[in-house]
Amino acid sequence: MKFIRRATILLISFLLVLVAILAMRTARFRPIEVPAPAPAESMDVDSNAAAARLARAIQIPTISYEDPEKSDTAKFLAFHDLLIELFPKSHAALKREVVNEFSLLYTWGGSNPELKPIILMSHMDVVPISPGTEGDWLHTPFSGDVADGFVWGRGTMDDKSGVLASLEAVEHLLAAGFAPKRTVILAFGHDEEIGGGNGAPKIVELLKSRGTNAEFVLDEGGSITQGIIPDVTRSVALIGVAEKGYMSLELSVMQTGGHSSTPPRNTAIGILSAAVARLEENQMPARIEGPSLQLFQNVGPHMPISRRVVFANLWFFRPVITSILSGSAATNATVRTTTATTIFESGDKANVLPVNARSVVNFRILPGDSLDDVTAHVRRVVADDRIKIQQIGTANEAAPPCDPAAPAFKVVATTIRQVCGNDILVSPYLVVGATDSRYYYPISKNVYRFGALRMEPSDLERMHGTNERVSIENYAEAIRFYAQLIRNVDALP
Ligand SMILES: [Zn+2]
Repeated sequence: MKFIRRATILLISFLLVLVAILAMRTARFRPIEVPAPAPAESMDVDSNAAAARLARAIQIPTISYEDPEKSDTAKFLAFHDLLIELFPKSHAALKREVVNEFSLLYTWGGSNPELKPIILMSHMDVVPISPGTEGDWLHTPFSGDVADGFVWGRGTMDDKSGVLASLEAVEHLLAAGFAPKRTVILAFGHDEEIGGGNGAPKIVELLKSRGTNAEFVLDEGGSITQGIIPDVTRSVALIGVAEKGYMSLELSVMQTGGHSSTPPRNTAIGILSAAVARLEENQMPARIEGPSLQLFQNVGPHMPISRRVVFANLWFFRPVITSILSGSAATNATVRTTTATTIFESGDKANVLPVNARSVVNFRILPGDSLDDVTAHVRRVVADDRIKIQQIGTANEAAPPCDPAAPAFKVVATTIRQVCGNDILVSPYLVVGATDSRYYYPISKNVYRFGALRMEPSDLERMHGTNERVSIENYAEAIRFYAQLIRNVDALP
């Protein structure tokens, strides 16, 4: 009896202490107060004229096809010519170089060669229209229609708006008599949508041969999200500071075939499908760290109390949060190396044992895991000598996180708030897809992914999907963002 009473008292005291700690940490988990930045330089953008120029760029279908045979290189040259026509001041004042036939590099020399240059990246190619979806477009994909306050068409979001908006900004600054102290480089790849191997790395090679070491690189990737992060009502601007890696492993089995009337216990299909099932059951471990952790720390204080308690007390709730995040495909991708079986082939006749079976598993690799780690994990989980495991296609390690405390990060964050709204929360995050920026690590330690596009949940499916569009207002905002950024970097130490 006495023992039970003591144990109860002990338990209650323990719970009280626990609740007190959780409450205290929640109370301390407050939004990070950032002083309001100075207002942006006033800038008159003729948004309708800018939209009309973007529309013309959309009308040139610079499509990247997986099958290089299908590529229409003339379209890329026509796109180059259009840029010359639309931005005469930039083409008079900046050095323009064509890299590997179709990529473009512009250099706007700064007056102070001591200052490191900045590089603004975008890509000129677009993805094809999925066959059968053409009819679902409200405006035909390459019409470049301007209607209902939007420019419509493939490339309006991804990523011709980046190419054109950065040139609009330069054109505008030149007209205003602005001369940068710090060199500004514009780098436009032509094959990002098929891995970027012939564009971005060639540009980087060239810049590296010239000893370029950039203060920062800014590519596509992040955006200003509204309603995309659950339970956060404020707009959140996401700046990608890291990027997942990529690898595909082929698993294959060879067996003696024969007649299906006297089969072995497991055929090639049975052996391989069991291995694939094991891989799906045994995922790489989840970790909340780096940019994903920073994102929760930044937006957590703006969530309702029930969530705030959890994010303020990761030390206690980490296992719970990890399992919650693992539960949805979108958040799962931000906390672990993902495993996706994408191809499975075997068998061709109902009464014949298959001689071989083959499957391909695609991995998107969390920074901190390496290609070797993933391969080792697969070998360990498959644990079957009959299965041959080999890497196929291109692979790249994850692009490691850049320091969000760097002055370069702050200048991008400040520019967002100056131009797009002081109430916007700005946070680093992990890009789960791939961008050309991963090639730029050799020439800068600050590689960021952000374009000033505003994204609501319904916009996510427009990217690479149907009815891609950008609002005229948002496009003008993107132009102002680049112009203000170029002004701001001159003040960086
Ligand atoms: Zn893109």
